[in-house]
Amino acid sequence: MLMNTFSSFPMREELTRAITDLGFETPTPIQLKVIPHLLENPTDIIGLAQTGTGKTAAYGLPLLHHVDISVKHVQCLVLSPTRELCMQIQEEMSKYGAQMRGLRVTAVYGGVPIGGQIREVKSNPQVIVATPGRLIDLLERKAISLEHLQYVVLDEADEMLNMGFREDIDLILKNTPSREHTWLFSATMSNEVRGIAKRFMKDWKEYSVAAANTTNENIDHQYFVTNHHNRFETLRRLLDFAPGIYGIIFTRTKQDAQDVSEKLMKMGYHVSPLHGDMDQKMRSKVMERFKNRQLQALVATDVAARGIDVNDITHVINYELPDDPEVYTHRSGRTARAGKSGICMSIVSPKQISNIRQIERLVKQKFHKSDIPDGAEVVRKRLFFYLEQIATAEPQADFAKLYWDTMHEQFADMDKDDLIRKLMWLQLKDTIDAYQDSEDLNAGFETKGKDRGLSRGNRFVRLFINVGEKDGFNAGKLVQFITESTDIEPGIVDRVTVREMSSFFNVPGDAADYIIEHLSQKKHKGRKVRLEEAEQRSGGGGVGYKGGSGGGDFRGKQGQRGGARFSGDVKSYGSKEGFKGKRR
Ligand code: AMP
Repeated sequence: MLMNTFSSFPMREELTRAITDLGFETPTPIQLKVIPHLLENPTDIIGLAQTGTGKTAAYGLPLLHHVDISVKHVQCLVLSPTRELCMQIQEEMSKYGAQMRGLRVTAVYGGVPIGGQIREVKSNPQVIVATPGRLIDLLERKAISLEHLQYVVLDEADEMLNMGFREDIDLILKNTPSREHTWLFSATMSNEVRGIAKRFMKDWKEYSVAAANTTNENIDHQYFVTNHHNRFETLRRLLDFAPGIYGIIFTRTKQDAQDVSEKLMKMGYHVSPLHGDMDQKMRSKVMERFKNRQLQALVATDVAARGIDVNDITHVINYELPDDPEVYTHRSGRTARAGKSGICMSIVSPKQISNIRQIERLVKQKFHKSDIPDGAEVVRKRLFFYLEQIATAEPQADFAKLYWDTMHEQFADMDKDDLIRKLMWLQLKDTIDAYQDSEDLNAGFETKGKDRGLSRGNRFVRLFINVGEKDGFNAGKLVQFITESTDIEPGIVDRVTVREMSSFFNVPGDAADYIIEHLSQKKHKGRKVRLEEAEQRSGGGGVGYKGGSGGGDFRGKQGQRGGARFSGDVKSYGSKEGFKGKRR
């Protein structure tokens, strides 16, 4: 029988009924290729197909066909790069399996309290859809076991790799002793994707459907949605998550290039500004340092970046999107040169998502909405980075020869485990400190935080401002003045009280310092605006960073917060705290 309809597939009848109900009539090309194979012989496969080709059903239907509902443990895992995709996959698979009584498909992803997800996974769903980071959180808390897992699907594998989850994927796959079938789906076939296949799959078959190839297909366009006041923190997070970065950060104005760069430098990052207010000599010097890899990123304006002629740029980061979409293509074209691949990341506010759509049309490529990594993901990323650095280091033959005996004596009584723990601890403790209570920077998820108590970040702070009715303000005008002067969302300002000579208003704790800093630079009718917290700060309110550059490491030692949590179990680096480096 020719297998070109859903009813001709030898599939559980409940599934055929469900997809008929959904109105699926003919299988899509990837479904036609993959479903019959996986139904009859669920061996390892690679499917090259983009989103929108029907790939979820291509693996989802065979997966549900093979599930044993009577068995109460996790049998199938679908790994996907973002929480959005996780939710979509879970929804889609639940629809396919709607008529399979007893079937449970659970999605786990970051950005929401982990408690509810722990309860869900402990009740043994047969299928779990997960982002790598959250799954590892659950593994470390021993909330989930992958011991009986037979089927693993890697969805959008290229995207997971571009987002830096290679080590996480490796770790997960290494912890699946019963895994028999690995199905990998990816829009593109890069060496890294092939690498996963080589490490974890056997005798796989490849199926591909024609992708809408475009000009600069080596660039992965990613965007990260955060609220305006979290832009800088997001940049830091992205830099910390890309320890080997060699990139250009684009700002819109010379002042921003200077400010962002200075802030990063103070925190120990090896960056430099590059803009038109610097004379030629200074710019040449910066370029020399960049080309020598003494700098890992430039913070540049569009005009100044025109002269940059470097082939190995790994990342272009748009700290702000350019006004003109054409300029975006110039910026992103700085990476993925000479046949290499590259990543162009844009930090956008929720309002700017429409600009992304506009640019997408211009570059004729789909942009990937990516999650801003959480603290645990950053720490893990850097742990693996150091491991790799140690593995590939080539010290000179006579390095420290003179001290060799002394060093041996020093460590003679220390066992290897202890030594490794101590070395890694020394390397990572600043990152662990900095991310101990890091907030979720993804817009829409911020105030949900993780299941912790309220910190300054998610309680309100009352601010005093030295303008009032005498200056022509009422509540509405004051909110307008505040939001326009600082570019924050109007919804952030609350409980405004306007008095004769002064006013008060509430803002979220994590935005307070930003607003104070930005409004205090403004003048109203020639008078300097002054702001301060109306209430006593809880515990000091020291400003600034410890500073200090971190040797050969890209990220410095800003040591924001005390304590550390990267022990046997990496707990969620959850609740929000602090803003732009201020310490409590
Ligand atoms: P995906 O590429 O898996 O993200 O699927 C894209 C969309 O196409 C989803 O909304 C699916 O529900 C839908 N879809 C998948 N397969 C079919 C099909 N054979 N016929 C009609 N719609 C489909």
